[in-house]
Amino acid sequence: MKFAIISDIHSNLEALRAVLGDIEKRSVERIVCLGDVVGYGADPAACVDLVMQRTVVSLCGNHDHAVFYEPTNFNAAAEKASYWSRQALDEDSNTPQRNQRWRFLGGLPVRYTVGDMLFVHGSPRKPINEYLFPDDVYTNPQKLLSNFERMDKTTCFVGHTHVPGVFVDDPYFEPPYEMDGHKYTIGEEKTIINVGSVGQPRDRDPRASYVVVEDDTIEFIRLEYDIDTAAKKIIDNPNLDDFLGTRLYEGR
Ligand code: ZN
Repeated sequence: MKFAIISDIHSNLEALRAVLGDIEKRSVERIVCLGDVVGYGADPAACVDLVMQRTVVSLCGNHDHAVFYEPTNFNAAAEKASYWSRQALDEDSNTPQRNQRWRFLGGLPVRYTVGDMLFVHGSPRKPINEYLFPDDVYTNPQKLLSNFERMDKTTCFVGHTHVPGVFVDDPYFEPPYEMDGHKYTIGEEKTIINVGSVGQPRDRDPRASYVVVEDDTIEFIRLEYDIDTAAKKIIDNPNLDDFLGTRLYEGR
């Protein structure tokens, strides 16, 4: 079995196109999306369309939830971006296409399972909104342990923090750059695997992040994309804070 997992696209069409092109080259047919298709970036409608076409399932992220329902605990820039995304999706004069996007965003599942694998946006116990940060290993190990205890599957794939890597239940966090060939082999022990972010990486590496799963091997992939275009569209959009564009260059 070989499939790709993408997450946190955040309306970054340039990054999404680059990742989908790379996935195609690797002859991967099935793609799972862990959510946050929209929010922050300049192309919500085009990203929703591509995710609808290309993924077998897309899960509900906090930004998808915010655009469809309401933003909760968002900072000012994120809140503004989610209201603008809603407006942009509403303004499309093609009614069937507009309705199809809203039906998609309103129907996103919170959890998805295949065999011994669980897929969520945030965490096993709070699938939409809980962040599992690498630092939690030191600052809040109980949060991680409680999530491992509640997992009824061996492997859980998450996004949400935009920081790729693997949590094991020591607890310990291993970033991809410490792995041999950026590959991790899953075994008997429980793991929570963060696939990173396609459209707004935050581990100081600005390249788009996603993973390919082949049998028990998880390969973490980074990909350059046209940041100039993605950032310029955000900076040129008066409804989106410039910082949402400039941060793309820094991967934070
Ligand atoms: Zn996100």
